[in-house]
Amino acid sequence: MSLKYVSTRNRDISATASEAILQGLASDGGLFVPTEIPRLDVSLDTLAGYSYQRVAFEVMKLFLTDFSDDELMSCINAAYDKKFDTPAIAPLKKEAGVYYLELFHGATIAFKDMALSILPHLMTTAAKKNNVKEEIVILTATSGDTGKAALAGFADVPGTRIVVFYPKDGVSPIQERQMVTQKGGNTRVIAIRGNFDQAQTGVKQIFGDDALKDELKSRGYILSSANSINIGRLVPQICYYVYAYTRLVAEKVITPGDTVDVTVPTGNFGNILACYYAKQMGLPIGKLVCASNENKVLYDFFGTGVYDKNREFVLTTSPSMDILISSNLERLIYHITGDDDKKTAKFMEQLSSTGKYEITEEMRSHLTDFYGGFANENATAEEISRVFHASGYVIDTHTAVASAVSLKYREGSSAKSPMIIASTASPYKFTRYVLEALAKSEDIGRLNDKSDLELTKKLESISGVAIPNAVLELFDAPVLHDIVCDVDGMPDEVKEFLN
Ligand SMILES: *Cc1c(COP(=O)(O)O)cnc(C)c1O
Repeated sequence: MSLKYVSTRNRDISATASEAILQGLASDGGLFVPTEIPRLDVSLDTLAGYSYQRVAFEVMKLFLTDFSDDELMSCINAAYDKKFDTPAIAPLKKEAGVYYLELFHGATIAFKDMALSILPHLMTTAAKKNNVKEEIVILTATSGDTGKAALAGFADVPGTRIVVFYPKDGVSPIQERQMVTQKGGNTRVIAIRGNFDQAQTGVKQIFGDDALKDELKSRGYILSSANSINIGRLVPQICYYVYAYTRLVAEKVITPGDTVDVTVPTGNFGNILACYYAKQMGLPIGKLVCASNENKVLYDFFGTGVYDKNREFVLTTSPSMDILISSNLERLIYHITGDDDKKTAKFMEQLSSTGKYEITEEMRSHLTDFYGGFANENATAEEISRVFHASGYVIDTHTAVASAVSLKYREGSSAKSPMIIASTASPYKFTRYVLEALAKSEDIGRLNDKSDLELTKKLESISGVAIPNAVLELFDAPVLHDIVCDVDGMPDEVKEFLN
């Protein structure tokens, strides 16, 4: 049986899985959604005995029905290999009474690796399937994390090239170092004189420039994007929820059918939507706890039914969640309207014209699986200390937002199900913020005058977790990219790279 994907804004626009991966966004600006959510067809007991790769295969084959078993298995094996620093790929750690699902063991030590290490392989396989002869050129604007994860995923993948634009003064020093030291002959990293919005707008303009696209096509290139709305990023994220649940079965913490709750630190709503899909597949998940930082547009949405992005944008210590337009929420809106494309299109029109929309009571009645919460900067820092005190385990700021919200949820609920918390970044990715949080309750000495390397070593001695290679390498890796350009110069830089 082959599964179809349709646009959230017009069900007449449809695609196979491989076409949807190649296109990213539907032609009307909607997001591709499956016309039905497949049910898991292997028992939870059986899955409990499988490796990460095998679980991923059993989940992904139900969604990517036009990929052959061999194709899918080779994509999975190429993605989840030695790039990850543990054979478990996504280990589940019991600390301070909850289960942290560590999604940060890939090349860039953040959870984006879970999807971006497989997307290039899904894309090149999809291109072959659809007789695309051109080389695929990925264009990305980044505020930090996505750019590096996409670079690491696409580096040296035959049949692809990748260009990443970042705002020269708009990313952290570690993030910049991660990008400018990127290896791979098919990669190019370019700083722009401007902010992230300008970089993003510049990339969108290149995608909308038909003359440029025709010129590139005649030279053997097509443009594509590694954006988080691509179903090629969403589907691989469903797998680790199934994997986590079945680890608890394997460890006899639960028996198949028992309910677990899950908390996800949320920005663009991709990760938690994947968890929602896992539940729709039949995985026994109770509450989906949606955790926001001070940019709490989703907390307000779950509380009031009103989505309103008209508010001040707050810069926090969990920058990957500093988002006011959660793109993937459009898919949830579509499902809770009863898969109604016309209604979804109306809400999205309202969002783009007024910056807000209000859903109906009927739609709200389909949101009872969700609990929205948020943690401010103080609560986030205190949670890092609390967890460290309770178990000696150090979490990063994004995970701490989730951890703080899950604690609040558990205190207010009589449910006693095990709680899984999606741990989305290694504390080594946000070393300074993490140490500053710990310094409020621990005597760890002065931090202000310390270099990044010194802080990294300090974190190692406090946490007892070895410094990941991805971090160690940074300190003496040579700079391989040093182009800086104006926003107007972006199309020329792309042409020059493809010459
Ligand atoms: C991207 C990111 C998030 C947010 O995930 P979404 O899928 O956008 O909701 C949370 N934490 C970290 C560390 C991230 O990089």
